[in-house]
Amino acid sequence: QDHQPGIEALLNPPAEHIRPGYRGSSKLAGRKALISGGDSGIGRSAALHFAREGADVAILYLEEHDDAQETIRLIEAEGRKGLAIAGDVALSSVCDDAVRQTVKAFGGLDTLVNNAGIQYVSDDLTKISDAEWQRHMDTNINGYFYLTRAALPHLGRGSAIINTSSINAFAGNKELVAYTTTKGAEMGFTRALALQLVEKGIRVNAVAPGPVWTPLQPASWGPVSPKAVADLGKNTPMGRCGDPCELGPAYVYLASEDASYVTGQTIHVNGGMIING
Ligand code: NAD
Repeated sequence: QDHQPGIEALLNPPAEHIRPGYRGSSKLAGRKALISGGDSGIGRSAALHFAREGADVAILYLEEHDDAQETIRLIEAEGRKGLAIAGDVALSSVCDDAVRQTVKAFGGLDTLVNNAGIQYVSDDLTKISDAEWQRHMDTNINGYFYLTRAALPHLGRGSAIINTSSINAFAGNKELVAYTTTKGAEMGFTRALALQLVEKGIRVNAVAPGPVWTPLQPASWGPVSPKAVADLGKNTPMGRCGDPCELGPAYVYLASEDASYVTGQTIHVNGGMIING
């Protein structure tokens, strides 16, 4: 089935980022998840697939907006609990509070998805301001650390942490130097933490998406147009960018018992780009 996102859907993002026909089979029944950036794009896809698989899902996102509330409505429509938390992952106090709220609302926490991220074009290193560089580090690296540190005391045997990295961590991207730096750091974080937490029975893995059309993209490259969408995906073997609905199932797998022997690994969801390393 071809999931090439239609331009209409991209101009008016679909309320759901769940794969058409995805039924779910209670793979995450009873699980309690917190997903940063779960209001939009890839994180929202993870949130809605998790809910369809039986998990309660809290989402942490930067600013209050209608799509975040709509995400909660869709989680609740699956018969699961949803919790919306607005706040900046770059602040450790916000991450501490988000975990506290999640544990209070759901009675625990066993699945953490570090996914909130930003990407600004930085194609000339000499033009990157201190503030732009720092904002990338604060959000994409510190945010993953703060939220994980806050969550860890609540995570027990069988828990899972999933970090959204990027194809750019492996292939590099000359137009996104600051962003690519953070995505590489997230891979180091994933691998070191996976080893540190093996004895506790907590698995830590990464998803490395290729180009996926989400609000992150026009924020970096300019307004949505058929050409922009085509350009984003043209370097993949499949010749197209991904639809957010194609990402959620990878997160379900890594969160579920199906991945009980998988830790410190990366699932590449990228239209066939071959990765060395
Ligand atoms: P998106 O813009 O649709 O969603 C990201 C969400 O993160 C935003 O809606 C925002 O609420 C949240 N966020 C950003 N800064 C935050 C902060 N400081 N505090 C709290 N929340 C914050 O983007 P997306 O494309 O779904 O990206 C999700 C993740 O996937 C990111 O880590 C990104 O780097 C990664 N990724 C995306 C692509 C792609 O092509 N879209 C490719 C590879 C990796």
